[in-house]
Amino acid sequence: MTRRISIFGVTGSIGENTVDLLRRAQGYQVVALSGGRNVARLAQLARELRAEVAVVADVALLPDLRAALSGSGVEASAGPDALIEAALRPADWVMSAIVGAAGLAPGLAALTTGATLALANKESLVTAGPLMLATAAQHGARILPVDSEHSAIFQALSGEDITAVERIILTASGGALRDWPVDKLAGATLQDALAHPNWAMGQRITIDSASMFNKALEVIEAKEFFGVSPAQIEVVIHPESIIHSAVAFHDGAIMAHLGAPDMRHAIGYALNWPTRAPLPVARLDFAALGKLTFRAPDLARYPALRLAQEVMQAGGMAGAVFNAAKEVALDQFIAGKIGFMQMSDLVDSTLGRLFADPAVGQVATSLDDVLAIDHLARVMARDLAAGMTKTV
Ligand code: NAD
Ligand code: MG
Repeated sequence: MTRRISIFGVTGSIGENTVDLLRRAQGYQVVALSGGRNVARLAQLARELRAEVAVVADVALLPDLRAALSGSGVEASAGPDALIEAALRPADWVMSAIVGAAGLAPGLAALTTGATLALANKESLVTAGPLMLATAAQHGARILPVDSEHSAIFQALSGEDITAVERIILTASGGALRDWPVDKLAGATLQDALAHPNWAMGQRITIDSASMFNKALEVIEAKEFFGVSPAQIEVVIHPESIIHSAVAFHDGAIMAHLGAPDMRHAIGYALNWPTRAPLPVARLDFAALGKLTFRAPDLARYPALRLAQEVMQAGGMAGAVFNAAKEVALDQFIAGKIGFMQMSDLVDSTLGRLFADPAVGQVATSLDDVLAIDHLARVMARDLAAGMTKTV
């Protein structure tokens, strides 16, 4: 049987890794591919994979995409509505790998078709966890986690009863600045934050790894997806990134997933689920590794972890506020307008302003609910950012 496959965010790091695995696979047909602004790469991949449709996020780039696809038989479209239209096309397996809250709408649309959604876009569960799960349940769709930690946990839970879980242990590399003295962090530049020790990823998630906003998002993602309490989630720094995460059960046993730091583990697991197929990843040699090390995260270094706890306690749509404020803070840092540690200051003060808003206290029942809060938080965060002076 031919599987129909779509990839949203195909021109990114996860998207390209997914294509790498598809090139080695058989028996599939590509329905939709999407990209943000890189028309040339999108068109190249759409031609290679003989996609039915290619969607570019920026409408102004539609003429370029049309030109790049001319004579190929691939349809060209653009903009948020086209993205949803593409996500509604029947597919068996859909990769959600757009970065940021922009990935929520196409992922939700794909779930309404009953497709299996391979979810790399962690922002979907952070901003709209209950809505994602309810939509999947309502339409008989399945969500398979692609974040490496959540894939590891999902695999460790295979055949287990969630009520036997004591703790979920999320590992974190600590990011590019983990060995910097804490008082130097305020002066970290974009280049400093981008030098990730283990994982090759998109720019935004790499900076989020250095600040641990990435781990904060993942803690919330784990709470939403696995339905555990915040107190059951532990974060541990594991600089080698060999243990991708673990589950501790109430009999004292810990099941962990180990592997080379290569996202094709998690993507391949979701692609081949419920079976396993050979993957082109490096094999581990325990003797060559020698040792694995761990340490507790220092909350003064990583305020994002404390903020994640506050967001989970607040509930409702606090996750949507947190993510939107974080995206604004990241834009400000990338633009050189605020310092590295001011990202968490900005998120903290946005949360402080919006936690009391009754609308934020509600659980989202529709995409519009989430988008309204996302918008409110972005406006507030930009406003607050305008009043900040860069301190480095
Ligand atoms: P990336 O920046 O490399 O790629 C993002 C993709 O989204 C690109 O195709 C880009 O063109 C597209 N895009 C960007 N903005 C868009 C918008 N507004 N509308 C539509 N499309 C847009 O990012 P990535 O590292 O591949 O990460 C993708 C997602 O997967 C993120 O949510 C990230 O947190 C998650 N993730 C990534 C990794 C990793 O190793 N890269 C690991 C775990 C989770
Ligand atoms: Mg991860």
